[in-house]
Amino acid sequence: MPNKIDCAGCRNPIVAKKHLQCCRCQQPYDLQCANIKLNQFNSMAEDQRAKWKCVVCISKQPKTDNTDTPARVGVEGVNRNRGSAAVSLQDLLEDDRAQSVTMPAKDLQLLIMEVRQFKEEVRAICLQMELLNGTLAALALRNDESDKKIEKLEVHVDLLEDCHADSMNILSRHFFKSTQHVSSIRAPS
Ligand SMILES: [Zn+2]
Ligand SMILES: [Zn+2]
Repeated sequence: MPNKIDCAGCRNPIVAKKHLQCCRCQQPYDLQCANIKLNQFNSMAEDQRAKWKCVVCISKQPKTDNTDTPARVGVEGVNRNRGSAAVSLQDLLEDDRAQSVTMPAKDLQLLIMEVRQFKEEVRAICLQMELLNGTLAALALRNDESDKKIEKLEVHVDLLEDCHADSMNILSRHFFKSTQHVSSIRAPS
């Protein structure tokens, strides 16, 4: 008679050797109920198989139980979407939380307030910079306009100077003529 064993999960007979036996309760599980793919099972070392624990025993295990870590590692490597990996992550998160609690809450609040203040100051400086940039651009524009106006004024001044010189010439010529005229009138008498 062949060695006939039934799966502790589904109660179906287990074929050949494709099953795992829990190292805690000694119950046999077929690969489906052990949640292990065939290639995973094939790549498991003999000692990994020996350290395998069923879901029932894992769920009975207290969260903080670190006494037999090798077994947990063995389960983790195979049974990824079951509890073990998630539990160790949870433990890590809890450790983190515990560490942050050990930092004085007052100091933390002060730090947060300071950071917030600093952020606001930086924002205000950025705003001022933008305003300054705008003012600078406007000033540059006005400077250009002023330069153009000055150029125009210079041209006007040149023109005026020319006009003035012409007028003076004309005036002096007229004056010279009138004095001649006056002396010619006076001469006969
Ligand atoms: Zn089964
Ligand atoms: Zn078990």
